[in-house]
Amino acid sequence: MGIENLAVLNRPNGEVEFSCPECHGIATPNDGVADKEQLAYLLVCSKCRIILGQWPTAQERAQDLKVFAEKAKRELSDRP
Ligand SMILES: [Zn+2]
Repeated sequence: MGIENLAVLNRPNGEVEFSCPECHGIATPNDGVADKEQLAYLLVCSKCRIILGQWPTAQERAQDLKVFAEKAKRELSDRP
C-alpha cells in the first residue's frame, strides 16, 4: 500500500505534478476500483493505466501524495 512507482514533474510555478515513470503520462486518482472484491483507492497512469499507488482510504492517499509532493519540492529547491 502507498506509492509504488511515481515520477515527479516540476512545473514553472513551483508546483509539482505526478507522472508515470514508464510513459510520462499524468498520474490520475481512480476511486473505488474493485480488486478482488476489496475497494481500493488508486493512482493510475492516464496513458498506460498501470497502477502507481494504492491506498485503503482516500484520506491516506491524499496525505501520502501531499508528503511526497513536499519532499519533491524540497529536493528540487536544494538543487543548485
Ligand atoms: Zn504510463
